[in-house]
Amino acid sequence: MSAPQAARRRKFWGWGYEGEGPGLEQRARIAELLRARFAVELPEPLEPPRIEQIALSPPRIAPPAALAGFCSTATADRAAHAYGKSFRDVVRALRRDYGNPPDVVAFPADEGGVAQILDWCDRIGASAIPYGGGSSVVGGVEPPSETGGGSVSIDLGRLDRVLEVDRVSRAARIQAGVLGPALEDQLRPHGLTLRHFPQSFELSTLGGWIATRSGGHFAMLYTHIDEFVEALRVVTPSGTIATRRLPGSGAGPSPERLFIGSEGTLGVITEAWMRLQDRPTLRASASVRFADFMVAAGAVRAISQSGLNPSNCRLLDPGEALTAGAGAGDEAVLVLGFESADHPLDAWMSRALECCRDHGGQVPDGAGRTRDDEAGAREGAVGAWRKAFLDGPYLRDALVMLGMLSETFETAVTWDRFPEFHRGVLAATEEAVRRVCGAGTVTCRFTHVYPDGPAPYYTIVAPARRGAELEQWAEVKSAASEALLRLGGTITHHHAVGRDHRPWYDRERPDGFARALLAAKAALDPRGILNPGVLIDPLRP
Ligand SMILES: Cc1cc2nc3c(=O)[nH]c(=O)nc-3n(C[C@H](O)[C@H](O)[C@H](O)COP(=O)(O)OP(=O)(O)OC[C@H]3O[C@@H](n4cnc5c(N)ncnc54)[C@H](O)[C@@H]3O)c2cc1C
Repeated sequence: MSAPQAARRRKFWGWGYEGEGPGLEQRARIAELLRARFAVELPEPLEPPRIEQIALSPPRIAPPAALAGFCSTATADRAAHAYGKSFRDVVRALRRDYGNPPDVVAFPADEGGVAQILDWCDRIGASAIPYGGGSSVVGGVEPPSETGGGSVSIDLGRLDRVLEVDRVSRAARIQAGVLGPALEDQLRPHGLTLRHFPQSFELSTLGGWIATRSGGHFAMLYTHIDEFVEALRVVTPSGTIATRRLPGSGAGPSPERLFIGSEGTLGVITEAWMRLQDRPTLRASASVRFADFMVAAGAVRAISQSGLNPSNCRLLDPGEALTAGAGAGDEAVLVLGFESADHPLDAWMSRALECCRDHGGQVPDGAGRTRDDEAGAREGAVGAWRKAFLDGPYLRDALVMLGMLSETFETAVTWDRFPEFHRGVLAATEEAVRRVCGAGTVTCRFTHVYPDGPAPYYTIVAPARRGAELEQWAEVKSAASEALLRLGGTITHHHAVGRDHRPWYDRERPDGFARALLAAKAALDPRGILNPGVLIDPLRP
């Protein structure tokens, strides 16, 4: 299924590399399963677009000679930077609808190049859109619709190196445009790892993770990238900001935290000192079955409040377990894991499994022994979940081609409100799916957990009507988002705000904080050129 490494070229329209993802035969098998599951006829599958089929409006701006050497107006580059990877993006790409691409794509090779591009955008009033891996699922990288002055996508992909490793403090200075696998490849010879593995790891970047407060591998403790950021360098239209390397500080509000989650609206992150881990050598994993999702949630709460801090604590409801091949669809499955480069994990695991048994969990005999190989994480229900997690991004595009509405949304809520919250979110979303699509499934898993509450992640799969997919998506998304806010959750736990979540984020965010954020934006980006429409609207001068 994979193209040879040397010939690998990113798809301009969807997830992954050319030639990867389910082929014709696999798509036909998936279509059979969907027909059986939803008892519907599917429309003729859509074919992926070819670049010769894409017609773009001519660029409205041209880079000055000094910048032209690292700028492109080629159709393939402009189309590849027009969208992120959300359902809405893939639908528009499959329709060959590229109505608002960036005029220019810049590929600066260093921080000086980033500053030059920002200067140029500031001078001519063009929108400047930082672009990492382009895996945004919230409309974070597409140009705004009113771009009178044109728009420039700033692709950080050439800033892809680990520059310095401090083995003593276990930290590294890393350029922001490096993709997940290349980052880990450069840390491996040092026996170190960032161990931040979002599902989009293969095609997302360090700078993107920081800019979106991405959620990674650790189900507890280091849930977001935030905890790993030691210091940052950020280029803004008003100059470059470098923060001090410190293991911790109580000196006022944290300067790093202003930029973590700023989604390209306050500056371009060019590099970061990141806290690292020794590569784990010892692992223990187990899967535990529960008759009921809510009962299983009780076990997860007990574990989350025990101080054990498992690295993996993913609770799948029966539907998720079925889809992942980790269950038969009649039981919830908890995938538990501990890891260490230092000590055996049997004591931690056996106490966590005791919490599960106390809540009626079925623990397989001999489960959870410490192993010094990775195989344990690739066997049985744990392995099935892992494989489904890795294949997920490719599958999503295939579902859209086959005529399905496929959407995920994630949130967090405190334990005291969780039962009512979960019932309410499911009811509102299922009602919208039935009303809008006629049939469909809404499933849930916990991706991260905290001592005071879980981060539930919901997946919708439903038959869509060809031509009406975007309206159907908007209606279902709106019903789900309204429920999240009404019942006390957050509009996003780790997918960021972008454009898609703005109506709900604007209501979630306290007014006084919005004013403070706007003041910061006005100080750093006085002409409001950085990613307009994302996160917050700039005050126009
Ligand atoms: C299949 C799939 C699975 C996903 N799984 C996860 C997951 O497990 N966890 C998770 O957190 N997210 C996940 N996401 C969402 C997405 O991958 C994250 O938001 C990720 O952090 C984006 O990184 P990126 O490099 O692709 O950034 P981009 O998509 O390029 O950009 C995202 C935002 O950050 C800004 N930005 C990017 N680079 C910089 C920079 N250097 N300086 C300033 N601003 C910048 C952009 O302007 C944009 O607003 C998933 C997405 C997909 C498609």
